[in-house]
Order: sequence, then structure tokens, then C-alpha cells
Amino acid sequence: MTTGRFAPSPTGDLHVGNLRTALIAWLFARSEGGRFLVRMEDLDRVQAGAEHEQAQLRDMAALGLDWDGEVVRQSERFHLYEAAIDRLTDAGLVYPCYCTRREIREASAAPHDGPTPDGAYPGTCRNLADAERSDREAAGRPPALRLRADVGEVTVDDEVLGSITALVDDVVLRRNDGVPAYNLAVVIDDADQGVDQVVRGDDLASSTPRQAHLADLLGLARPRYAHVPLVLGPTGQRLAKRDGAITLAQLGDLGVTASDVLQQLAQSLRLSLPGELVTAGDLIERFEPSLLPRAPWILS
Ligand code: GLU
Repeated sequence: MTTGRFAPSPTGDLHVGNLRTALIAWLFARSEGGRFLVRMEDLDRVQAGAEHEQAQLRDMAALGLDWDGEVVRQSERFHLYEAAIDRLTDAGLVYPCYCTRREIREASAAPHDGPTPDGAYPGTCRNLADAERSDREAAGRPPALRLRADVGEVTVDDEVLGSITALVDDVVLRRNDGVPAYNLAVVIDDADQGVDQVVRGDDLASSTPRQAHLADLLGLARPRYAHVPLVLGPTGQRLAKRDGAITLAQLGDLGVTASDVLQQLAQSLRLSLPGELVTAGDLIERFEPSLLPRAPWILS
């Protein structure tokens, strides 16, 4: 049976863009008669909060989205991520990296032998000699852990975008503050929870080949992927606070109900007609992934 999921970071209220992605993910899973899970991606415990989590779940429910089983929290699952890091370490695929963000920026801007895509790690700490490593240890810099990727480009199939190809660099597995990295956690969680359908915003498409490669290395099945267009603000940029009332609570203050928002979302997905009153459940049988609008929805 298909198992889909929505995996928000509980750092604030969901905005209309997040809610639209949640609705689409729910429709993907439910239209196949599948299960739908919610996972709180609260690796950053400082920013995440129980009150945000409750508000996010309440807003999903207000739109008529339901989920199966208990909500899972990444903050309670560090042992799973550490076990995966141990396995990769045993396979000789992990090395400590002492670089600061700034060093990485500067190194990737410098000319090199081969192409290094924007933001990709240029491999500075990959082959440090023991002495160089001890120098950095002695300087008291806590290392991040990186994957020795050695793979070049990886391609994944995507049900919306077709295929996504990206160079897989030496992705961070554990940050230098000791927190497991998102790209690792997401792979472990999806596999552990039996998720085989990942539907999320297309801002994450470029990370997907890395995640698929990690899954391959860990012997985990790759899920099906569908990256969906984001909602943009009136200026064509990602939806943000400057765009005014974008959460259910803010819209509620203006007299816009959750049902009104659902009607707008449904119309934006071409699943209902103007003036027609629908529930989320009504949309399940109308949903057809191949008819999903391919362009971002601009909120005016
Ligand atoms: N936690 C991520 C976000 O809120 C989503 C990650 C995912 O769906 O894989 O953007």
C-alpha cells in the first residue's frame, strides 16, 4: 500500500504554500487508497516548539486533512541517524570536515581542475593527512561529518518534474554542532516509516539525488518522488511574512475561514470551479497527478 507523508518543520505556523503542499501530498496518497503520515522535522530543537507543532496539526485538520498513526518527531530519533552514520563509517565512507561556511564559499569560488557546482563542497577535508587533521583538532574546531560520495551525477525519476539530475557532493551527515543533517534524517525516516511516496515543494528537488544516493548506499529502497511547484507572493518571490496574511490564523483575523482557504487551494489546483463548495475529501477522486499545474501559484 502506498505510504505518503507531510514533513513540516515546526518552527512557526504553516502558511498557504505549506498547506497547499500538504493538501497535494495528502491527495497523492489518499487517491491511491494509501496511508498518510505526518513527521515533525524538528532537528533544530532551539527553533522548534510544541506550540508550533500543535498549531500545524490543527491547521491541517481544519482543512480536512487527516493522518494515520502517531506524529513522529525527528528529535526523538537521533539514535537511528547515528546508527546509519556508524554503518557508513564502518564502510569507510565518512570523514570529518573542519571547514567553516566561509571557507567552503571561498574554496568553491576559487578556480579548480574540474567543475564544482554552486554550493557543492569542494572536498577540502577529504584527504587531510593525519597531521593536518590533528592540527585542526588541536585548534578546537568541532568537525562535521561528511559522506565520501564518489559518485558524480545521480538521476532520480520525479512524477512531476520528469527526471532530476544533480552532482552529488560530499554531503554533511552530522553537523558540527552534533545534530544529524536533514539529508540523512529524511532518508532514514522515510525508509523506517515505510514511506514510498515523497511529495514536497520543488525547492527540495536539487537535494533529492543526494538523498537517493544515500538510500542506495544504505541499501534502502528509493521512494517515488513528486516535487510540486511552490506558492509565490505577489512579487514572484517565495511566500514570506512580508506578504501579509498567509497563515490560517492571520487570514482568520480577516474573516477568511479554513473552508475559504480550501476553496482557493482547490481552485488553484484546478480541482474545483469558482463558486463551488468542496471538502478535501471531495477532491480525492478528482485528483489526477498528471493534471497538476506545473507553474507556481502566485498569490495576489
Ligand atoms: N522539513 C522540510 C520542510 O519543511 C520538508 C522535508 C521533506 O518533505 O522532505 O521544508
